[in-house]
Amino acid sequence: MKILVTGGAGYIGSHTVVLLIEAGYEVIVFDNFCNSSRESINRVEKIVGQKITVFEGDIRSRDDLGKVFSSNKIDAVIHFAGLKAVGESVEQPLRYYDNNVNGTVILCEVMEKYNCKSIIFSSSATVYGDPHTTPILESFPTSATNPYGRSKLFIEEILRDLYVSDNDWKVILLRYFNPVGAHNSGTIGEDPNGIPNNLMPFIAQTAVGKREYLSVFGDDYDTPDGTGVRDYIHVVDLAQGHVNALDRLDDFSEVMTINLGTGKGYSVLEMVKAFEKASGKKVPYKIAPRRAGDIATCFADPSYAKEVLDWEAKRGIEEMCEDGWLWQSQNPDGYLTKS
Ligand code: NAD
Ligand code: UDP
Repeated sequence: MKILVTGGAGYIGSHTVVLLIEAGYEVIVFDNFCNSSRESINRVEKIVGQKITVFEGDIRSRDDLGKVFSSNKIDAVIHFAGLKAVGESVEQPLRYYDNNVNGTVILCEVMEKYNCKSIIFSSSATVYGDPHTTPILESFPTSATNPYGRSKLFIEEILRDLYVSDNDWKVILLRYFNPVGAHNSGTIGEDPNGIPNNLMPFIAQTAVGKREYLSVFGDDYDTPDGTGVRDYIHVVDLAQGHVNALDRLDDFSEVMTINLGTGKGYSVLEMVKAFEKASGKKVPYKIAPRRAGDIATCFADPSYAKEVLDWEAKRGIEEMCEDGWLWQSQNPDGYLTKS
């Protein structure tokens, strides 16, 4: 089966490409490299020991997509391509709606034209807004507090509408919790531009000496130690969730909406401690005010993924931190580091 992976050069996409190839799928990567580099693909090629077909293009371009679909019989698309910075989305909402929502509409149009009607979409736990209780089930109400989150909600609805219009579509919406860590080769990982927004890359850069200290955003939440609690999931487990979803696409006769999380929540301070243990480095931190829009606690009920995808996260917090550290310490400047 030939799979088109949009955003395949990015953090989650690159790890998924490795697992797809190891599972025997033929993969084509489609990326405009707006938040990634070709070096990630070079590294993936080293891991899997084969060349990867890459199309440089934008999902908003029917021409770019047409080049891929007219020269390949694509069986399914795993759609990672998108912009993902919450703060940036507040400042540049039109850019986010254009890239994420419009881009997905154009992708689906081209897929339809070439009779490829199977798509696995990267959604996010952000669509649950501030949940009333945890763990979070797929049936919980959805809401969004920023354009990034709203772009995910809109796309979910668009894909559901597409299925209603034509039941030949196979649609799986995967709602990720907090992906962290890296491939255990230490050669691919998360390579954020500039100052990281997310906790784990910030901790890793502090441990390696690139940042002076971590600002812990709030210690007065209603959580055991007062800091925010999240469901961190190893990126390789997350990638495996996509392989399982792809393996089972044809089994489903409705749009599937599935949480990919571990079901366990860890606080910011627990993550700091775990990372210090894994790296043997100190992670200095200072308590700072709460970050606007943050919620206290977010973790998944992952039992539906177990039931329908036969998938569950296998890697614990130690492995997430060890693999994250291996990547960070071997690549202090991310993909700019000479391999
Ligand atoms: P990433 O930025 O590393 O990867 C996204 C890739 O898409 C990049 O390689 C980028 O160059 C590419 N891209 C963006 N816009 C494009 C366009 N118009 N045309 C072609 N390529 C384009 O991000 P990631 O962390 O790997 O996330 C992948 C997906 O998962 C995103 O849709 C993101 O919103 C979603 N997601 C991520 C997280 C997370 O915490 N990382 C959590 C939930 C959901
Ligand atoms: N966080 C923090 N300092 C940082 C980045 C994040 O204290 O520099 C906290 C944040 O308030 C949240 C948790 O770490 O409680 C996870 O934040 P992240 O941005 O990684 O994920 P999200 O908020 O999207 O779940």
